[in-house]
Amino acid sequence: MSLLVVSNRLPVTIGKTIEKSSGGLVYAMEGLDYSDGLQWLGWAGGVVDDPEEQGRITTELSARFNYMPVFLTKQEADDYYTGYSNSSLWPLLHYITPYARYEESWWEAYQRINRLFAQSVLDLAGTDDFIWVNDYHLMLLPSMLRQQRPDLKIGFFLHTPFPSYELFRCNPNRDELLEGLLGADLIGFHTFGYLRHFRSTVLRLLGLDSEMDFIPNEMHTTTIGVYPIGINSEKFLKALASDEYHRYLKEYRETYRGKKIVLSVERLDYTKGIPRRLDAIERYLSLTEEIDDIVFIFINVPSREGVQEYQDLLEDLQGRVGQINGKYATIKNVPIHFIYRSVNFSELCALYSLADVALVTPLIDGMNLVAKEYLACQQDKNGVLILSEFAGAAQELSNALIVNPYNINEVAETIQKALVLTEADKLKMNLPMKERVIKYDARYWARSFIQDLSATTENREDLPDTKELSSGVIDRICASARLGLFLDYDGTLAELKKKPSDALPNEEIKDLFLKLERVEPVDVYIISGRTRDDLAQWFSEYGFNLIAEHGFYFKHHHTSEWIEFDPQADLSWKNQIIDVFQLYTGMTPGSFIEEKTSSVVWHYRNSDPEFGSWKAHQLVAELYEMLSNLPVEIHHGKKIVEVSSIKINKGSVLEHFTLSNNYDVVVCAGDDETDESMFRLTADNIVSIKIGMGDTAANYRVSSPRAFRKFLAHVIDNFSVSNTTRRKD
Ligand code: UDP
Repeated sequence: MSLLVVSNRLPVTIGKTIEKSSGGLVYAMEGLDYSDGLQWLGWAGGVVDDPEEQGRITTELSARFNYMPVFLTKQEADDYYTGYSNSSLWPLLHYITPYARYEESWWEAYQRINRLFAQSVLDLAGTDDFIWVNDYHLMLLPSMLRQQRPDLKIGFFLHTPFPSYELFRCNPNRDELLEGLLGADLIGFHTFGYLRHFRSTVLRLLGLDSEMDFIPNEMHTTTIGVYPIGINSEKFLKALASDEYHRYLKEYRETYRGKKIVLSVERLDYTKGIPRRLDAIERYLSLTEEIDDIVFIFINVPSREGVQEYQDLLEDLQGRVGQINGKYATIKNVPIHFIYRSVNFSELCALYSLADVALVTPLIDGMNLVAKEYLACQQDKNGVLILSEFAGAAQELSNALIVNPYNINEVAETIQKALVLTEADKLKMNLPMKERVIKYDARYWARSFIQDLSATTENREDLPDTKELSSGVIDRICASARLGLFLDYDGTLAELKKKPSDALPNEEIKDLFLKLERVEPVDVYIISGRTRDDLAQWFSEYGFNLIAEHGFYFKHHHTSEWIEFDPQADLSWKNQIIDVFQLYTGMTPGSFIEEKTSSVVWHYRNSDPEFGSWKAHQLVAELYEMLSNLPVEIHHGKKIVEVSSIKINKGSVLEHFTLSNNYDVVVCAGDDETDESMFRLTADNIVSIKIGMGDTAANYRVSSPRAFRKFLAHVIDNFSVSNTTRRKD
């Protein structure tokens, strides 16, 4: 078994020679123990069109590092990387929607390059391999891989924030992106907030309910978890002991003797809150009396210089810095040192160690490693970390001075406060954070993600706390002489769709039905809340008995005639219910009323899921109070509230058919509250199966319609075998 890490960029720089980068991700991945090694797939960077050169790079990367490059043309890099990844997704994931632009050609390139990556992974992946896909450039990859190779373990980690549903919904390709991600066995986020947003977005856009740590979906079940990334602490501790670091430290100590240093380090990016920070610094400078004794050092690493917004930001910052320095510089001091380049590693460590304050105030940041690196470098003395509450790191580093970066007065005052803290206070603040940063490093992060990925069970076909369908029960079903199958349709055989008309049987279900009708000693009943028309339209072609409106109508598979079970049923209450439903429809945007012969249904599947469910609970409570004297039953099903005649429910119909037929085994299956009347029947020959989550009286449970179809297919395959054998006996 080996691990294949996939990221947009390979951790290498290709110049005259090829150099491997020593970033946190490399350190993290190399700390993992894989018997068959670690491979890494990603774009080599730049544009290499010459096939001979591509071949040379591929051979060298593979031989030296076990890396496999993907090559992009200039147009592909422009559209997929600069375009969709960095100009559509990046601003959206970081709440900067005005910067998010969408071009169809970018989206096409994004899909194409994700497919290119998928093909390269499929060429490389062996049986049982682990694939770890990283970041927003490759959100479609997990599903592309799963469709081809369901046996692979696929993990996805998002290194950026996941925004609120209100933001994510703005993306024109939002559903495809979510479905792409849900191909993964495990999706990791830096913080619980991002995970929470992801769940809420999946619920609202795809209509998928989830638990705190997993999301059952059409393909399988995706586990979700929180894994805050750490730094390569070993590398920092080593650097702090190096001669080069000490040389820099000595030099800068001399340069800045007598001055307080406030340091900011970041890629030049509009998410980092640099203009706002300059406003706060200006406010501080306007208030302080020690203007000659403080210097603000900005290390801004050039980033995405091809994107217009980054060029504009640089220009804006240079102007702002010039303005502030012009206003507050004295003969003795220039307050802001703005450095637009990267610094070498020992130099960076020396600056971290020397700085009295680290001013880390992004408007939003997935994690922010600079905050953690600064703490790791506080060895001989302690500096103060001022940290934006909008950085993922703030969740872990709560001892820092946490600020709202939009509030310039607060930031200015916090700079002042940080500069006068006592050594004892600083030590007390930093010690637990430093310990945390060193202990929970990048390797810890990678190990915990991979451990959880390997622990994802075989697609979680069976949920916890429920009885699995044991082989004994399945054998009993397959060995029965006459089997009655009472199957609900929506949410049981087929996945629930936002529009009920979209839930028509797909090829897989049709194929299952064709096989099912051929199994001789099995009587199939489709038992649904749907109307006669729906059932007749979709299922008449199969040799199935149909039960519509939860049992009000029955149609034997030989005829086209529907029979009413209880023609005498009193339905005079319907108008009263419709009046109440109309009130709730008015209060609940998106909801609507459906009138059937024997019942009235209030649907709220098109309303906000949380608001709809809250209103539904209110409605049910009101109905219970008002209907106590009427001959009706109230069902709170999946996104519906239904009121129907008390005499008609799936349980009584099931009972009727089991008594009038000689089934030795009856299997009934359903997914919601309306199926519970079947599950409450206690006859020995009934095997009841609940599909999905929620309380149930059923004996058994499977996680999803997909898992239930798998079970049925298994029964069909084994039924013929065991019956044939028995008949021979
Ligand atoms: N960094 C760098 N060169 C520099 C300054 C900083 O490589 O000249 C590194 C820094 O050590 C940190 C990374 O850039 O590891 C920035 O990571 P962070 O999570 O703070 O922000 P991101 O760039 O991922 O948005």
